[in-house]
Amino acid sequence: MAVERDEEVRVRCFLALDALRARYGNDLPFVGALSDGFVFHGQRAPFLNRQKGIYRSAIQRGPAALSIQTSFKGGPYDDVETDEGFLYAYRDGPVNQPDNRALRQAYALQVPVAYFRSTRPGWHRVEYPCYIGADDPAGRHVLVTPGRMTGTLEDPEPVPIEISVERSYAVREMRVRQHQGRFRALVLQAYRDRCTICRLRELRLLDAAHIIQDVDPKGLAEIPNGLSLCSIHHRAYDQDIVGVSPDYKVHLAPRLVDEKDGPMLDALKGSHGVTIELPRSSTLRPDPERLTTRYERFLAAS
Ligand SMILES: [Zn+2]
Repeated sequence: MAVERDEEVRVRCFLALDALRARYGNDLPFVGALSDGFVFHGQRAPFLNRQKGIYRSAIQRGPAALSIQTSFKGGPYDDVETDEGFLYAYRDGPVNQPDNRALRQAYALQVPVAYFRSTRPGWHRVEYPCYIGADDPAGRHVLVTPGRMTGTLEDPEPVPIEISVERSYAVREMRVRQHQGRFRALVLQAYRDRCTICRLRELRLLDAAHIIQDVDPKGLAEIPNGLSLCSIHHRAYDQDIVGVSPDYKVHLAPRLVDEKDGPMLDALKGSHGVTIELPRSSTLRPDPERLTTRYERFLAAS
């Protein structure tokens, strides 16, 4: 049965993405991860098409797209966010050209798709299962809405979210995740992909920490509210074990300064008093006002 096979291809695709996210976190590198594709009955298939955006796999039997992709930085594929989801543009050319047909079939058949957004060249965030909640041929776009996985671990099943309150919540979460992805990409780039404290240069261990927690989901990703930190320094910063004063100096919580507890603590101690590495452009550097507010919290906690 074409329908069952199509459904199974989609589930295989989502499970393979689960495995990649367990390994890499939310930001997936293309080379060495997504580029391997997923396996369906011994056949390997790509997850996405980075050139065309709309992708239907050759191993499918059904007519609908398996995934859609938005490239890094705008252009015709800069998806508009709404309270209902993300607007994803048709490809240029006739409404009924093959890729647009595959996209519109995902709406007509209400099948789940994977929605990739590139956060920086070579890296993608992915949302799945997503559904096409509306199709607007005159406006030349569809509405991408989040779905959810149900069923058992052995027999997972993607489903749309029917209850509107739940759907609104899921859309909000999806937007927050996407903003976090953009924030991380921008902050890491500003710091030349290094931990600002220890200079570690390993993308997979780097995070963008907020100086002041961003509570507004619509808040723009502001680089001056961010610090590029390795996982250890990020955790230590969030827990007020490490602080950064407005003069860009690193401080270790006083209770740890005299403690002796092996090489990791020595490494943390080693950063005490050093100046963080700053973005070259002064407009991207941490905002001193935010640093002050945050540093006061560190002092109060330590
Ligand atoms: Zn570090």
